[in-house]
Amino acid sequence: MATLAAPPSHGQTLATSTKLLIDNQWVPSLSGKTFATINPATGQELAQIAEAEAADVDRAVRSARNAFERGPWRRTPATERGRLLNKLADLLEKHADEMALLESLDNGMPLSIARAVDLPLTIAQFRYFAGWADKNHGKTIPINGDYFCFTRHEAVGVCGQITPWNFPLLMYGMKLPPALAMGNTVVLKPAEQTPLTALRLGELILEAGFPPGVVNILPGFGHTAGAAIAQHMDVDKVAFTGSTEVGHLILRAAGASNMKRVSLELGGKSPNIVFADANMEQAIEGCHFGLFLNQGQVCCAGSRLYVEESAYDEFVEKSVARAQRRTVGDPLDPTTEQGPQIDSTQFEKVLSYIELGQAEGAKLLCGGGRAGEQGYFIQPTVFTDVQDDMRIAREEIFGPVMSIIKFRDIEEVIERANDTAYGLAAGVWTRDIGKAHAIANNVRAGTIWVNCFDVFDAAAPFGGFKQSGMGREMGEYALQQYTEVKTVTMKL
Ligand code: ADP
Repeated sequence: MATLAAPPSHGQTLATSTKLLIDNQWVPSLSGKTFATINPATGQELAQIAEAEAADVDRAVRSARNAFERGPWRRTPATERGRLLNKLADLLEKHADEMALLESLDNGMPLSIARAVDLPLTIAQFRYFAGWADKNHGKTIPINGDYFCFTRHEAVGVCGQITPWNFPLLMYGMKLPPALAMGNTVVLKPAEQTPLTALRLGELILEAGFPPGVVNILPGFGHTAGAAIAQHMDVDKVAFTGSTEVGHLILRAAGASNMKRVSLELGGKSPNIVFADANMEQAIEGCHFGLFLNQGQVCCAGSRLYVEESAYDEFVEKSVARAQRRTVGDPLDPTTEQGPQIDSTQFEKVLSYIELGQAEGAKLLCGGGRAGEQGYFIQPTVFTDVQDDMRIAREEIFGPVMSIIKFRDIEEVIERANDTAYGLAAGVWTRDIGKAHAIANNVRAGTIWVNCFDVFDAAAPFGGFKQSGMGREMGEYALQQYTEVKTVTMKL
């Protein structure tokens, strides 16, 4: 258990385990290694965390396998699995302030966002899938001949879950509940940048009363612990959220080992399309939110902002003014809209894209540099005169950098919107229902937002077309990722 120095203004003492959770025990890593997790607002170390590697993954997989095949989990009725998930949701609710603070310190997201967005949506997912635990069942099928045929929906088995750092808790909310509701067991590897809320969640999982081995939590690095999960011969399924590059590696590792089931939620370069007939004030605020939310570290960020020619100048002027008003600073200050980027690597990467945009000929209208003296803060940045073939319009920047692009008509913008390897999400702003439908039907992306952006709900599926991923999380479709269908045919 490590005690973390909570800022004095927040009074609370924050404490969490810093070890690995295997078989309901907190254990050091077999190598004894630890790594530092830092506060990106200050660059200072928050805690040393036990570092899982392949041997620890092996141990955790054995525990998860045992829980799946032989432990009480196998015999736990579906309603009881639902009850445990609801109990965990209750505990998260009880500790929501503390969880939000931990998340803000480790990730840098504004505390107000963590408390108002992350925690409620995470808790909602535990409750939503708790409800599904005893409702996802098979069918009886009238096949030809004298037979009785039915299907059973069974758990897949041991599930590896590998998550990124941008919305740590939300990712556990997307992945753990559907897996557990369907009776799977889990080896979860949180991102190395943000292990703290996963570890605190592990403590709540123990308190809720999940049997040993059902959830194992292993902080560690991607190329060691993450790769060991993806390659493991006794992991039945891997669910991954992160970059498209690592998504390719996961898919390859799954194919080269035991053909484990794979679900992927990967990168994006989402078009957000503003027609001149839109409610301009709403569109400007919505596009600002859709790009700058979470410091721009959102896989579905509306980072290709297409604006119709006749509205372009007004849109640019007001969007720049809005970006200049954006408050950047201490994530714990309730007036802060934007905190730091997650670490020095991402900070440098975003700054290098800003340099690249200028070199490519885009016009920098505001921001463009570091904000403040310490931590990894970047000024809200807006480029105009961006062309489709510029790298800043094609590659995922994952930072507070808005690129505004001009378009003329709807056929052209649909074609340009689809000219990408990604297909995670898209937005459209218009008062014309015909245009809204045309975009919704013709843009190839897993989610389309009309006159809104980044609206998420536990019941609404989310995931990507093309290289933005495979499979859906959240909502009923997520159950498929954690279910095997068995057909039973009996001769009468
Ligand atoms: P980002 O670039 O946003 O950090 P990554 O895709 O690199 O995203 O990381 C997302 C998650 O994938 C993290 O938990 C990371 O540790 C893990 N990861 C990174 N590389 C690998 C890999 N080769 N195999 C498995 N997991 C990996």
